[in-house]
Amino acid sequence: MFCPKCKSLMYPQGDELVCKNCGYIEKKRGKKIVKTKGKEKELAIIEEKVEVLPKTRITCPKCGNKEAYWILRQTRAADEPETRIYICTKCGYKWREY
Ligand SMILES: [Zn+2]
Ligand SMILES: [Zn+2]
Repeated sequence: MFCPKCKSLMYPQGDELVCKNCGYIEKKRGKKIVKTKGKEKELAIIEEKVEVLPKTRITCPKCGNKEAYWILRQTRAADEPETRIYICTKCGYKWREY
């Protein structure tokens, strides 16, 4: 990276590039940082969504974990009861209750 003012080599200093010759300072492009932050935000939102689901004490048929999230799913036919979908908090295995 060269200084746009005096064309001498610039040195990185924190998140800035500094020209030792004329003192010109240029901010490094924060594209990468912004992208990482966006990804972190996305992950946090997904975690929040999972956290909102109610938990219940039930044994996972796959790994034997004693806790699972559950979601009520309405069936299309009115005379049929609602179906509970369980999602294991440990292995993520999904099953339903009849
Ligand atoms: Zn310079
Ligand atoms: Zn499990």
